[in-house]
Amino acid sequence: MTAAIIDGKAFAETLRERVGALAADFSAKAGRRPGLTVVLVGEDPASAVYVRSKGKATEAAGMKSDTIRLPAQTSQDALLEVVRRLNADDSVDGILVQLPLPKQIDEQAIIAAIDPNKDVDGFHPVNAGRLATGLNGFVPCTPLGCLMLLKDRLGNLAGKGAVVIGRSNIVGKPMAQLLLGESCTVTIAHSKTQNLPAVVRRADIVIAAVGRPEMIKADWIKPGAAVIDVGINRIDAGEGKTRLVGDVAFDEVSEVAGAFTPVPGGVGPMTIAVLLRNTLVAAHRNAGVPLEKDAI
Ligand code: NAD
Repeated sequence: MTAAIIDGKAFAETLRERVGALAADFSAKAGRRPGLTVVLVGEDPASAVYVRSKGKATEAAGMKSDTIRLPAQTSQDALLEVVRRLNADDSVDGILVQLPLPKQIDEQAIIAAIDPNKDVDGFHPVNAGRLATGLNGFVPCTPLGCLMLLKDRLGNLAGKGAVVIGRSNIVGKPMAQLLLGESCTVTIAHSKTQNLPAVVRRADIVIAAVGRPEMIKADWIKPGAAVIDVGINRIDAGEGKTRLVGDVAFDEVSEVAGAFTPVPGGVGPMTIAVLLRNTLVAAHRNAGVPLEKDAI
């Protein structure tokens, strides 16, 4: 068997176009564009790249993009003050504080200070609670993107066995909640799980969110399973070069799996597309402009 490639790049482009069309409708109705403000503290180069691409994608979708850049030595109180100001600003629909934050700042305190209705990253405990209890809230972008790819490929997921490897608040836990919401039978595996290959071999759906290059091998995979690789790992490619690989050994697993997301070009492009989608939803809610159910 050779796995069908799940083209996250193409799916994300289509989603971004749809968000763009709906953002234009919103702007016509509300008399303003949906607005996303990203806060970047410090000069971490990877974060700076992410923030720039988020800004570009936001503008390309016809939304208002603002970036607040603060020095690395910013205090927690000063950052909290910025968040409070953005909470009170009606032209700001989505607030995203880029993680990681410098050591002197407690990330959880900052996340908790963001208005849950502007928390387009879906990291606020209120949104985590809404997800866990089946209420409408914001869902973290990467796992929601994974779910969209899975539903597009497999249709109804009810009854399927899913194994999520990784239990972070950003990917693993919300992913497991989403799959439970689709009536999958969900197992969450992590660094203390015993006999991980045997656990993964039971799954119809495997989500790898670990951060270990090519850890998941072909003989861990049930033939025909759908494999979603969230991992992004930069490895040495020789001659002073590097390349990106996922958590799954792509070449060998693609001989066994039924469907598979590549790295790069699988889950990665979905994250920003879903961020735009969440910002659009936030704008409708905050401005009281109805958005048709299942419009996006
Ligand atoms: P994390 O470090 O917070 O969590 C990793 C999880 O893996 C932990 O829960 C840990 O228990 C588990 N783990 C570690 N070693 C293990 C092992 N040997 N066996 C089983 N489980 C093990 O990471 P994260 O933020 O959840 O990210 C995971 C990966 O996904 C990283 O590679 C990250 O770069 C990538 N990521 C990609 C996107 C994207 O847009 N595609 C977004 C977020 C994260």
